[in-house]
Amino acid sequence: MSTETLPERIDAAIIGAGPAGLMAAEKLAAAGIAAHIFDTMPTAGRKFMVAGQGGLNVTHTEPFAQFCTRYGVRAPQVTQWLQEFGPQQVCDWSAGLGVPTMIGSSGRVFTHDMRAAPLLRAWLQRLHTQGARLHTRWRWTGFGAPPSEWKEAVPLVFATPDGEVQVHARCALLALGGASWPRVGTDGAWVPVMEQLGVPVAPLRPANCGFDAAGREGKGWTPFFAEHFAGAPLKNVVLRFTDSLGTQFERKGEFVITGSGVGGGLIYAASALLRDEIERSGRATFQLDLLPDRSAEQVLDEVQRPRGRRSLSTHLKSRLALQGVHTALLHEVLPPETLKDAPKLAAALKALPIALSRPRPLAEAISCAGGVRLEALDDALQCRCAPGLFFAGEMLDWEAPTGGYLLTACFASGVRAARGMAQRLGKG
Ligand SMILES: Cc1cc2nc3c(=O)[nH]c(=O)nc-3n(C[C@H](O)[C@H](O)[C@H](O)COP(=O)(O)OP(=O)(O)OC[C@H]3O[C@@H](n4cnc5c(N)ncnc54)[C@H](O)[C@@H]3O)c2cc1C
Repeated sequence: MSTETLPERIDAAIIGAGPAGLMAAEKLAAAGIAAHIFDTMPTAGRKFMVAGQGGLNVTHTEPFAQFCTRYGVRAPQVTQWLQEFGPQQVCDWSAGLGVPTMIGSSGRVFTHDMRAAPLLRAWLQRLHTQGARLHTRWRWTGFGAPPSEWKEAVPLVFATPDGEVQVHARCALLALGGASWPRVGTDGAWVPVMEQLGVPVAPLRPANCGFDAAGREGKGWTPFFAEHFAGAPLKNVVLRFTDSLGTQFERKGEFVITGSGVGGGLIYAASALLRDEIERSGRATFQLDLLPDRSAEQVLDEVQRPRGRRSLSTHLKSRLALQGVHTALLHEVLPPETLKDAPKLAAALKALPIALSRPRPLAEAISCAGGVRLEALDDALQCRCAPGLFFAGEMLDWEAPTGGYLLTACFASGVRAARGMAQRLGKG
């Protein structure tokens, strides 16, 4: 898509050229509406490209009912979007752009080459052919007037390379993303603008994030542990966590030690519960089973075997195949007396308590919880207090784990909002 001169009054403005905004543009094009898409960055889909770096996981193959539960308290609303554009539609859409998908071992669905770039390139090309126009380096800064003064058009104000420009759109979609990874354009600067408009926003919080460890004395990892083990993976472990409300989490997987705590897949999966518990209680402690394939009795048996003059680390390595990072973690979190007491040590190997003090900052998170409250919107994702203004994507108040659930809901909400916009323009 290329930038072209813009009439002062347009039918449809989409602000945010991420998956939600671009999907809305596609659905509007199908209804015969050529949208103008605006983005603050020099190119479209920067976060989509970042998502492709670790393998673009577009959706998941689990049964639809289970899929929908991943959206937690927002499942009732998100399910409505997914009924129109769900996991199967995501796969069909990708294949339609010449990028077939493939199923990974965990049931996650990826683009066949794991990349985002070919899909984004084909998508932007098709959107351009369909009549959509992209305006990059256009930063939306707010509205030219309060909704009571909108005369059948939303007055959008942009900071552009040529100065401030006001565009009147018969309907407008905000798909500005959350506030993680601000360097790709998603800085959450829209929050105060929404509050000024009277649109309630649930506080933005990190989701699918890492955490800082409390450490044995509440001071985090010791410098020795951080220096020697940051980046070390803990594979084939089970994380168990029960929060103060009794909600239980248990999953096998892997995560990494970071310079200040823990991160990676298994931690992200538990992160919403851990984050909420820290907010409630100031701390969250999960139990780590370092030897999930051995029973407590087997572990005790091995730990109790005489070790002679061998060090604890050599003993645990030869008897239980534990590596340096495991033993270092034991030293890091357990009091020295526990390490000398075989039954206590064996119990700790099956349930090592890892205390967390805070989530890592939102800027580092994969995604963002909180956002524009769905109660402020109608079923078409149109703002109740500002008719003509629609919302989609991660800037809405829902969250989900990694696994393709994020992109699928972004696409689906873009579809939903576009249908509402088309109806408003008399083309639905
Ligand atoms: C490292 C990483 C890996 C990820 N991997 C996956 C994955 O494999 N699978 C998955 O499902 N999800 C993944 N995600 C999450 C996924 O990328 C996001 O949920 C998704 O991109 C959100 O889509 P969106 O359209 O709502 O917003 P975004 O993609 O964030 O797009 C919003 C757009 O709005 C623009 N914008 C913001 N403010 C303004 C403004 N004031 N004026 C104009 N433009 C503005 C931004 O520049 C941006 O282009 C990953 C995220 C990260 C960070």
